[in-house]
Amino acid sequence: MPTYTIGAEQIPSQSHIAIENNDGTITAKHAKITVINQTELWIEDNKSTNGTFVNGMRIKAIAVKRGDIVQLAQHNITPNISKIFDNNVIIIGEAFKKHIESLTKIHMNYQQNMIKIKRDHAIKTNGIRTVISLIFAGGSYAVSKQFGVTNALGSVATILGGTIGYLISSKEIPDEKINILNKKFQQEYTCPACKASLGQTVPKFLEQNGHGCTRFRPF
Ligand SMILES: [Zn+2]
Repeated sequence: MPTYTIGAEQIPSQSHIAIENNDGTITAKHAKITVINQTELWIEDNKSTNGTFVNGMRIKAIAVKRGDIVQLAQHNITPNISKIFDNNVIIIGEAFKKHIESLTKIHMNYQQNMIKIKRDHAIKTNGIRTVISLIFAGGSYAVSKQFGVTNALGSVATILGGTIGYLISSKEIPDEKINILNKKFQQEYTCPACKASLGQTVPKFLEQNGHGCTRFRPF
């Protein structure tokens, strides 16, 4: 079980939680915390000067659940306690399967939306190309008529005009919608335990292997 000290001492360590903005009332290693399981921590006052409080009661040692108000002297450290719970969440078995289901939905929606954006974009681009091609073709036809060129020459000019119009309009138009979609996907497609982005890992792979962290895995 992970154990921590918590207090005013500002030396960064895996096993110490430093409380900043201290006014001198918090002791260096004010309290000790032991993770019992995902829903309970054990907190023990470490002979502090100003005491440790849980839900307003000064304590020597007590079990703490998520949502309990924890104070070192007058300082509310409940957010730090929530973080300890978050860092010790383990998602395995049935809960893992449920999360894989919702991640699969997120991944499917992403792919479907990407296809839709690209299809709409193609329709739009081709539409513009057709319009520009027609304008060029029409222009060429008008010019050849003006100069009284023969029908055959006029047709060649019309086709040429259309082709030039098509080439001019065939440049790729960057699509802001794709950027927005990618950003949203990055935010939603994350590990429910460690919150890391799952990148391009497909759900089928996740289902069998997890994504590398030990807190979100099949068993
Ligand atoms: Zn993870």
